[in-house]
Amino acid sequence: GTDWQPWLQPIDWAACALSAGTGMKRRQFVGGLVAAAGVTACAQESADCENAAAGGGERFEWSCVTSWPPKYPGMGMGVENLAARIEAASAGRLKIKVYGGGELVPAFEVFDAVSRGTVEMGHDASYYHKGKVEAAQYFTAIPFGLNYLELNGWLFYGGGLELWRELYEPFNLFPIPCGNTGVQMGGWFNKEINSVADLDGLKMRIPGLGGEVLRRAGGTPVTMPGSEIFTSLQTGAIDATEWVGAYNDVAFGLHKGARYYYYPGWHEPGPGLETIINKEAWASLPPDLQAIVETACQAITTDMVAEYTHGNAMALKQLNEDPNVELRQFPQEVLDLLEEITREVVAEMSEGDELTKRIEDSYYAFLEVSREAQRVTEQAYLNTRG
Ligand code: CA
Repeated sequence: GTDWQPWLQPIDWAACALSAGTGMKRRQFVGGLVAAAGVTACAQESADCENAAAGGGERFEWSCVTSWPPKYPGMGMGVENLAARIEAASAGRLKIKVYGGGELVPAFEVFDAVSRGTVEMGHDASYYHKGKVEAAQYFTAIPFGLNYLELNGWLFYGGGLELWRELYEPFNLFPIPCGNTGVQMGGWFNKEINSVADLDGLKMRIPGLGGEVLRRAGGTPVTMPGSEIFTSLQTGAIDATEWVGAYNDVAFGLHKGARYYYYPGWHEPGPGLETIINKEAWASLPPDLQAIVETACQAITTDMVAEYTHGNAMALKQLNEDPNVELRQFPQEVLDLLEEITREVVAEMSEGDELTKRIEDSYYAFLEVSREAQRVTEQAYLNTRG
């Protein structure tokens, strides 16, 4: 809503790109929207192509489809910023047009569209692909698993990214970590959760592994697009919902549809997002453009976490002052049960699949070591701050 505007405004990287490039003649590419055509090289003899030649010459015009509402705070703006940064850093040699969910392909068909080469690039969350490749969920979030800092530690220094690329290889996709929401909230409830018995029959919008865990704990998980959540909550069609965190939840008005806001987000402790690139499109880029894309993705992760850290803090402050909202912590016995069930669900996922088992072993080997390190670093520090 408009109340939130002062800090909802993201940095306008596109404007930065334009001001950085004022010394260079800019010309619109001809050819309109590139829906299917792979890459287009610029063979025009013009001032900006000569400029581009200094950096390798060939120019690329890509389409990027996403699962997010267009320009949605956090996730949606992250990919817009990514495209603007890549264009600026490459002096316009790689230009990416971003489409919101449903604008070019449906929100949950990003994986297929990029895999087939309908478009060169996509931005979404790997756990949306669990129906095709169940182990993809490790690279977004596992309940009671790695937080934001740990996920990056595992991906970039603990072998996680190599496993992810191996997992996506048969799908003709090259994944790059790109964005993270940080730890999410447990969700909005119109029923109090005081014991495990209160999970019985609880109808909650919660996707992925978290939903499966809730089902085994006696609840009824349902999935629906973000756009339908508020009405379902308000009409009582569902008792509870999770979405992201205060920043995004308030943008959907969820605080007007339920009284109790539970924490922590046990099911999504630091979900990472992905840029996926069609392998032929990736291979067509010269090494400097590949480096620009990977570097820009890392920058977007940092930027998105900064946006969520600030936005969540501001939104939580307002929620704390709202007499119609009560912040509640899940009872420990509820969290203990959910964690126990998570271990069963995870173990079943790798039964009979060698690569999933290797991913599981790598992920949990790091989690076990990191658990102790976090206990005496981040966790200890935050506990002393009071
Ligand atoms: Ca969520």
